[in-house]
Amino acid sequence: MKISDILKQNDKGIAFEFFPPKSDKGRAALIGTVKALKEFKPLYVSMTCGAGGTTQRLTQDAAYLLLEEGGLEVAPHLTCLDLSPEALRDVLDNYKSKGIDNIMALRGDPPEAVNNFNFLDQSFSYAYNLVRFIKEYGHFCIGVAVYPEGHIEASSLDQDLEYAKQKIDAGADFAVTQMFFDNTYYYKLLDRMKKKGINIPVLPGILPLTDIAKVKQFSSICRTTIPKNVEEVLSSLAQRPQDQEKAGVDFTIKQCKDLVKNGAQRLHFFTLNKPRIIKTIIEAI
Ligand code: FAD
Repeated sequence: MKISDILKQNDKGIAFEFFPPKSDKGRAALIGTVKALKEFKPLYVSMTCGAGGTTQRLTQDAAYLLLEEGGLEVAPHLTCLDLSPEALRDVLDNYKSKGIDNIMALRGDPPEAVNNFNFLDQSFSYAYNLVRFIKEYGHFCIGVAVYPEGHIEASSLDQDLEYAKQKIDAGADFAVTQMFFDNTYYYKLLDRMKKKGINIPVLPGILPLTDIAKVKQFSSICRTTIPKNVEEVLSSLAQRPQDQEKAGVDFTIKQCKDLVKNGAQRLHFFTLNKPRIIKTIIEAI
């Protein structure tokens, strides 16, 4: 079923994002995570691609693993990196034949190991090129990424939104945001999108703020602000990881409750394939 139809029928709910495992141990962990989170009857689940050195093949295998679990609407991520039109058609044929109806279409980040990497040298240079191709192929509901604080490479919020509109006009059906820790950025993004006449559902992407050192590192490469007071409290607990985790979980619960109170009742969780913290948060909200 298309996620756009699921979202039309459900004004509340939760979605989970996983990453593909690279080993048997990782596979077992993923299956355990999915089983643990299935009880929340997710609207859909998505499987990342390319991030952390994973490949299209690993994403496909992991997406099929999720399908085998049964009862889950699976959205594999696709990125532009090293993807020819022929290879993309093959991937789409494969997904369609297995019963997958949804794709998250992304440009991807430049590979760290390649100097002066330029996406303009790729067959698909931007997410909107992927969206257009997949739309023309037909069959799939398409999700894209949007950025409450602007994408790290964008020269301004306005320009970033203009490009986001381009991929939505090309056929994207829903969007998921980059992580954010100050909800006002999300509310402002929704306002700006509305003013531009963009009406697709935009699910907030939630990353539990449990390990401040890791999140700080991640935030610096994707332009996400960590509120100063939150950073100070969590950093002061660096030597007490359990207390830091508890404070981080409390923060994320508050963040989610504020979103729900303000009408964002469908949340997309970046699970990092770790169910325990996600369960605690969902049970609290
Ligand atoms: P685009 O929309 O193509 O934008 C990329 C940059 O180019 C932006 O700065 C944009 O403003 C600019 N731009 C867009 N169109 C044009 C144009 N026509 N002309 C000039 N400039 C333009 N990465 C992975 O590798 N794998 C994943 O599975 C993955 N999953 C993600 C899931 C979510 C929910 C999010 C928010 C991000 C995810 N990412 C993933 C990260 C994402 O790939 C990076 O942020 C990437 O740098 C941009 O991807 P995009 O699809 O937003 O690109």
